[in-house]
Amino acid sequence: MQAEELEAYRRAGKIAAQVREEIRKKVRPGVKVLDIAEQAENLIRELGAAPAFPCNVSINEIAAHYSPPPWDQTVIGEDDLVKIDIGAQVDGYIGDTAFSVSFDPEGEKLVRTAEKALEEAISRVKPGVDVGEIGAAIEEVVKSSGLKPVQNLTGHSLSRGELHSGISIPNVGGQTGQRLKKGHAIAIEPFITEGAGFVEDDERRVYIYSYLREGPVRSRMAREMLQRIKRNFSTFPFSIRWLSPNVSRLRLELTLRELRMAGILRPYPVLVERAKGKVAQAEHTVVVTDTGCEVTTL
Ligand code: MN
Ligand code: MN
Repeated sequence: MQAEELEAYRRAGKIAAQVREEIRKKVRPGVKVLDIAEQAENLIRELGAAPAFPCNVSINEIAAHYSPPPWDQTVIGEDDLVKIDIGAQVDGYIGDTAFSVSFDPEGEKLVRTAEKALEEAISRVKPGVDVGEIGAAIEEVVKSSGLKPVQNLTGHSLSRGELHSGISIPNVGGQTGQRLKKGHAIAIEPFITEGAGFVEDDERRVYIYSYLREGPVRSRMAREMLQRIKRNFSTFPFSIRWLSPNVSRLRLELTLRELRMAGILRPYPVLVERAKGKVAQAEHTVVVTDTGCEVTTL
């Protein structure tokens, strides 16, 4: 990795971390999920970066990909376990970080376990390590707490302009043959649950998309929206909120449906724990160094 690249990862990471800490102070019962997401995204912009993806505010059995739609009225409840996932990008270089908050003791145990698993995973990162060993470290911490890792969610490598750039970092053990190298940027993100340990797509709720490839577009409305999407977000994931000013809900949904059916947009459906167990998440971005790693989102 070039020195300028590392500097950009550090800048993006620092901004993501700053936003995380500001937002942490605001998450409590009675607050609107929509306000949290918008405050996080606006703060990223004020600090000189751009959102690398829409702020996710995923509650209880929703593990990820819940970024509130413009009409969202959800308010955080007393017993909720809330996960906030924040991504900032500087010049295409990304800082990806997440935290969880709970207001009851059972949820707090999940939150603490996710944080401990993340810490343990980070301590194992160095060149030559099979990513399965990182998964094993996570699995061990989680199982010794009597909980389960979510097996079909993983961390990921990052590269310029790419949130998932090829390598997956599992949350369970097993040899993968995929080894870390100096200069790799990776996001590690254990998801912990009291449920079945698997998530499923909720196809009825899709609030995040990204541009995938060209395809046939019939309506003028869809053509115009596609141009806006490419110009404003390139291939980064975007919230349907970011398209909504001056567009009615019906029009927004019809247009997105057309673009999705044409294979032009990739949908990111809301991910729900199979047994409806609560899920906690913790995440940092790290860059692999000679002897370990540097956490960019501390
Ligand atoms: Mn994330
Ligand atoms: Mn991530």
